[in-house]
Amino acid sequence: MTKKVVKTEEEWRAQLSPEQYRVARQKGTERAFTGEYHDAKDAGTYRCAACGNELFSSEAKFDSGCGWPSFTEPSADEHVRTEVDTSHGMMRTEVLCAACDSHLGHVFEDGPRPTGLRYCINSVVLKLDKEE
Ligand code: FE
Repeated sequence: MTKKVVKTEEEWRAQLSPEQYRVARQKGTERAFTGEYHDAKDAGTYRCAACGNELFSSEAKFDSGCGWPSFTEPSADEHVRTEVDTSHGMMRTEVLCAACDSHLGHVFEDGPRPTGLRYCINSVVLKLDKEE
């Protein structure tokens, strides 16, 4: 089980940047190709920028060309959770941090093999721990 991180909206607002708060706590989306990591190739571990939970390995990152960092799988299934998202007239699967429930992005079924999945994640809610 992932240990839950629970904070009030005031605490999140004080801790996060306005853009992080908008994406993570209000389910916003950063503009494509504007984030820090969409083109990043560095090796390391991508953590939740809100709580530090380990989310994705750079080994699962691939160049989808979609303008957001894209991963084929989370570093462990229990580190993220998903919910059906019917907003904006679409049927999508939302991806959230399993620890702090921050909105991360969406997962689509058009990724490369072997998973066939594309975890399309906002850079602003990620923090890369680079390998030395
Ligand atoms: Fe988190």
